[in-house]
Order: sequence, then structure tokens, then C-alpha cells
Amino acid sequence: MGIAVITGASRGIGAAIARKLAHEGHDVVINCASNVDKAEVVAQECRALGVRAVAKAWDVADHAACDAALKEIKAEFGVPTILVNNAGITKDGLLVRMSEAQFDDVIRINLKGTFNMTALCGAMMMRAKTGTIINLSSIVGVTGNAGQVNYAASKAGVIGLTKSAAKELGARGIRVNAIAPGYIESDMTDVLPDEVKAAMLNQITLKRAGKPEDIANVAAFLASDAAAYITGQVLVVDGGMGA
Ligand code: NAP
Repeated sequence: MGIAVITGASRGIGAAIARKLAHEGHDVVINCASNVDKAEVVAQECRALGVRAVAKAWDVADHAACDAALKEIKAEFGVPTILVNNAGITKDGLLVRMSEAQFDDVIRINLKGTFNMTALCGAMMMRAKTGTIINLSSIVGVTGNAGQVNYAASKAGVIGLTKSAAKELGARGIRVNAIAPGYIESDMTDVLPDEVKAAMLNQITLKRAGKPEDIANVAAFLASDAAAYITGQVLVVDGGMGA
């Protein structure tokens, strides 16, 4: 089996993806920003499944930190075969009241972080002539959302990055795809006001919020040979929210 690097895997969707890929037999590197204790718990759960797993904190928005982390991972585990760019944040606010820092922080982590990891890990995968990259976009990157110009722009950017990287790396056998989740239960959505949650639920055809495992199952499919002929795609996993 392969070596999977999952960014933002200390909790939520990233942790579910790490557990799922470990369950399928991949060694896993569990990245986080600062919650190393939580990332270590996820690593322990993965090791209990019989694979190698490490927790590592670095800021995906920091190019030099990504470079150093990937070099360490290569030395310890080998070239990653799966990269999941899942780390992400929200700093919501209305357009005319949004500060420059609110905009920049979200773009830096969600979009530039995805660029940093895709470019650096993609270079390693190109030399190895194998690998697959999965980027977490969002349904709001497709539809837009009031109060989230920064987040929606970052997630629309991730779609453009995914499609372009797929075209550049495809000839070397590397597939690049994105997942666009809808409303998934996690710390990110837990902080939303009840009326916002109710309004989102009302828009969902399947009449329930998604679970992190709903996304992890799709990530595992995209990472697998069952998806060997899929690249440059955005899989919307939103229970019919954007339909
Ligand atoms: P979450 O529960 O808030 O977890 C965010 C994760 O990202 C944490 O592991 C956090 O690490 C990590 N992180 C944040 N900034 C980072 C940085 N600079 N460098 C490295 N790691 C960083 O989020 P989630 O709901 O699971 O979302 C995961 C992804 O799915 C995000 O990209 C999000 O935009 C996307 N998404 C989520 C939803 C949803 O409804 N939840 C919908 C659409 C898309 P620490 O624990 O150390 O802070």
C-alpha cells in the first residue's frame, strides 16, 4: 500500500480521511497547525489498524515549512503516493465589512497552502511517476455564499488549481481531483448560529448534514485504483444541497 499525507487531519474531515486511508492499509502522515495532541490521538487510532502513522505540525501556508516537512516524510516513509490537501479555515463576514487580514488569512491557508503542498509534493510524485492528489474545495466555491467572499474565492481557486495541475501532471501518471462538500458536521460548522444550520438543512435534498465519513469514503475512492481514469474533476458531495 502507499503513503498518504493528509493536511489538517487532527480533527473533522481530515481525521476521518486519515482513519479511512489507514483502514485501507496506507501509512499516514497526520498534519495539523497546532493541535498536536489531537493529531497524535488520530495517529494512535491509525497505528491500531496496523499501519505506520505519525502526527506532524506545520503551517501549510508556509512554503519553507511544507518543503522541510515533505523532505522529512520522504526520508522516513518514502515519496508520498497520496496527498490530501484538506487543511482549511473560515473567517466569515460581509464583503463591505471584511478586513484585509480576514481575506488574506483565508486565501493564504486554503489556496496558497494547497498550492504549496501540491507543487512540492507534485514535484516528488513526478520524479516517481506515480501519485494522486485530492483537494478539498467546497460547494460554496461553485455556488458562492453571502458572508463568505474570502472562503468562496479560496475554494473556487482550489478548483482552478486542481484542473490546471491535473493537466500538467497527467502525462506523468498523476491524477488530481477535488471534492466539494456541502454542510458537514465538524468544528468548522459547529460554531454557526442555529438559524444558519437550519437554513442549510432546509436546502439539503437528503435532509441531513453530512458526516466527515461521507467525505472520507469519496476521498478513499478517488485515491484508489477504482478511480484510475478520473482526473481534473470536482466531485460534489453535498446531499443535494447545491442541486
Ligand atoms: P475543521 O474541523 O475546522 O479542521 C480544520 C483542520 O485544518 C484542523 O486539523 C486544523 O489543525 C487544520 N489547519 C488549519 N489551519 C492550518 C494550517 N495553516 N496548516 C495546517 N493545518 C491547518 O475543518 P473541517 O470541517 O474538517 O474541514 C476540512 C476541510 O473541508 C477544509 O478545507 C474545509 O474548508 C473543507 N470543507 C468543510 C465543510 C464543512 O461543512 N465542514 C464544507 C466544505 C468544505 P488544528 O487542529 O491544529 O487547528
